[in-house]
Amino acid sequence: VFQLSVPLNFLGSVYRELRQSLLDMETLFNLQKVNIAVKDKSDAKPLEFKGGEIRFENVTFGYHPDRPILKSVTFTIPAGKKTAIVGPSGCGKSTVLRLLFRFYDVQGGRILIDGRDIRDVTVESLRKSIGVVPQDTPLFNNTIEHNIRYGRIDATAEEVLHVSKRAKIHDTISAFPEGYQTMVGERGMMISGGEKQRLAVSRLLLKDPPILFFDEATSALDSHTEQALLGNISSILKEKERTSIFVAHRLRTIFDSDQIIVLRDGSVAEPPGIHEQLINSGGVYSSLWAGRDAEYGTGTVLY
Ligand code: ATP
Repeated sequence: VFQLSVPLNFLGSVYRELRQSLLDMETLFNLQKVNIAVKDKSDAKPLEFKGGEIRFENVTFGYHPDRPILKSVTFTIPAGKKTAIVGPSGCGKSTVLRLLFRFYDVQGGRILIDGRDIRDVTVESLRKSIGVVPQDTPLFNNTIEHNIRYGRIDATAEEVLHVSKRAKIHDTISAFPEGYQTMVGERGMMISGGEKQRLAVSRLLLKDPPILFFDEATSALDSHTEQALLGNISSILKEKERTSIFVAHRLRTIFDSDQIIVLRDGSVAEPPGIHEQLINSGGVYSSLWAGRDAEYGTGTVLY
């Protein structure tokens, strides 16, 4: 009996681990409402990364055929620069992310990364190249350290510490009685929306992908912490020349972008440009900035 129980116990724990990680993946995909059905073409090649220029070319897409979200949208996100996408709630900003990740395929036009149609590359290589801080970050029922390390499983404890400092969450974690070993998730400690966002930023900095997408990534932070975190993120992105995309309602978090794209009614509302250009041209962005846009409502907080 004794001889048998050892391997059975062992198998039991492997089974539980496996089951837990499958559940975790499920949670992740459910939370992100992910459609994982997109398949590789038989001749799909890994994405050859050359800087990370993204181009949407006449992209048409809707979740339902009778309700297009993007109508022949064209824009270029330059390699190594910070681009912001702004526009009223529901105009399709997060949809741009889902299409880029190929959670869905476009219904018209194409999306290119460094000149390659993303449907011709393997989904795995595509998703490895893009990192995201989503609107709502799924946390695993595990320690804070594990949750950050999910960005890159083989990271050292020092690396976890380093990114946490840059993500402005280290002091908060250190103040917890169990520090980085604090359990979070459904069965762990409740952590705030702003703490969750900073954990997500730590996770992304650890993953360190060539393309980074921040979807309302700092919306739950007080403006002092937000400014400090954005300053750190900006200097990391500049230093590493990463392509980044920021979606934000609070325009003051993106006005220093190298390019601002305004989406509205399924289209690009005006030629993209930097803040000063868009203010001078007196179009949609300038009225958003002035807080005069009724559609934007109270979501727009200016200074
Ligand atoms: P917000 O600023 O509020 O986050 P958004 O600009 O990011 O909005 P999206 O999330 O891209 O907007 O959604 C665009 C539109 O598509 C919305 O009207 C939304 O209700 C709809 N939509 C999003 N996901 C789905 C889905 N899985 N099935 C059907 N409709 C969807």
